[in-house]
Amino acid sequence: MSSSVANTYNRNPITFESGKGIYLYTESGERYYDLASGIAVNAVGHSNKHLIDKLIEQANKLWHVSNLYRIPEQELLANRLTDLSFADKVFFCNSGAEAVEASIKAARKYHFSLGDKDKTRIITFQGAFHGRTLGTISAANNPNHLEGFGTPLEGFDSIPIHNIELLKEIIGDTTAAILIEPIQGEGGIRVIDNDFLKELRKITKDNNLLLILDEVQCGMGRTGKLFAHEWANVRPDIMAVAKGIGGGFPMGACLMTEEASRGLIPGTHGSTFGGNPLGMAVGNAVLDIIQERNFLEKVNINSSLFHKNLKIICKDYPEIISSIRGKGLMIGLECNIKNTVLSDELFKNKILSVGAGENVLRLLPPLTINEKEILEVTKIISKCCENIKNKK
Ligand SMILES: *Cc1c(COP(=O)(O)O)cnc(C)c1O
Repeated sequence: MSSSVANTYNRNPITFESGKGIYLYTESGERYYDLASGIAVNAVGHSNKHLIDKLIEQANKLWHVSNLYRIPEQELLANRLTDLSFADKVFFCNSGAEAVEASIKAARKYHFSLGDKDKTRIITFQGAFHGRTLGTISAANNPNHLEGFGTPLEGFDSIPIHNIELLKEIIGDTTAAILIEPIQGEGGIRVIDNDFLKELRKITKDNNLLLILDEVQCGMGRTGKLFAHEWANVRPDIMAVAKGIGGGFPMGACLMTEEASRGLIPGTHGSTFGGNPLGMAVGNAVLDIIQERNFLEKVNINSSLFHKNLKIICKDYPEIISSIRGKGLMIGLECNIKNTVLSDELFKNKILSVGAGENVLRLLPPLTINEKEILEVTKIISKCCENIKNKK
C-alpha cells in the first residue's frame, strides 16, 4: 500500500488491531508477545481497564483547557509525583524530548536567575539519546542524528561515560549542569555505575552545577524502583520523565527541586497541551496502578526470574547472546550475531523486541508481565537461539 505518511521510519509492514495485557493482535487474530511496549510506553499493558475507565470518565467531562486556568487533575498528579520523589515542582509536556528541553531550559534559567548569565553549558555523555528536537540532538551529539540538520545548538560538551578525570577537566566557569540517563536506552542498555552517579552528584554539588537525569525510558517503575536513580541513592536537581508515565497517552514531565525551578517564573516556559485534563486523568490512573502495594515488588521478583532465565540462555548459546544487560524490565541482550538476525527470528516466533546501540536487542515488556508469561517467552527465545544455531 502506498502511503502519504512521511518516510521517517523503517516500518515492519505488520498492522496490529488490538491489544490486551502483554499481547498484541493482528487483524487476522495472530497473537504477538509485546516485549517492546511501544518502546517502554505501555507500562501497565494494553487495554488496561482502569486506564480506559479513567480516560472515558474524563472524556465525558472535559478534554482540554489551557494552562491559563487551574487544572485540578494536573495539580493532583504533580502533588503525587513530588510526594513520591526528590522533586517539589513539575512541568508537564507531551513527550520525552520536550521533558529534556524543559530540563535544559530550567537549568540555564536557574543560573541566569542567580545572575550567572554565562553559566549555560551542559555536559552530556556519548551513547546518550535525549530526543529528536534540535536541542536534544545537539545535547546527545550522535552524529547520525545531527547529520544534515545544520550547525548543532551551542552549549553542550559530550564526553565518554565512566571517566571522572575527563569530566573534572571539562568543567569550566560556564558549565551549568550535567545531563545523564541512569541507564542509556537507545545507546544499548548501558547501565551507569551507581558509584559514577554518586560521584556526579558530589561533583555537581562541589562545583555549583545542577544534576539532570533523563529517566524518560528508565523511569516510572521500569527498573523495579519508581525512578532508576533510587538504586544509586542519588537525588538529582532536575529529571525528565515520559514514555511510561502516560501508559500510551502522549505525556512528559520535568520534575525539579524548588531551588532548581526558581528561574521558571510565569511566562518563561509553556506548552499548549502539556498537563491537559485528558492526559492528566490517564497519568493519574497509571500512577494508581504503579503505586499499588506490591506492584514494584512484583516487577522486581518477575524481572529477577527473567534475568535468571535469560542468563541460562546466554550460557547455552554464547555464540548468539554474549551477555544480559540492564535492570528490572529494562533488558538488553548483547548479541554475538547481528541483533537484527535475533529480532527477526523472535518476530517469526511472535515476539516483538527493539534494537539498540552496541548490537543490543532490547526487551521492554509491560511491567505487568507475569511469571507464566516470562516462562513462555524465555522458552521461545531459547528455541529461537537453537534455530539460529542450526541455520549457521
Ligand atoms: C525516548 C527517549 C527520549 C525522547 O522521547 P520522545 O517522547 O520520543 O520525544 C528522550 N530520552 C530518552 C532517554 C528516551 O529513551
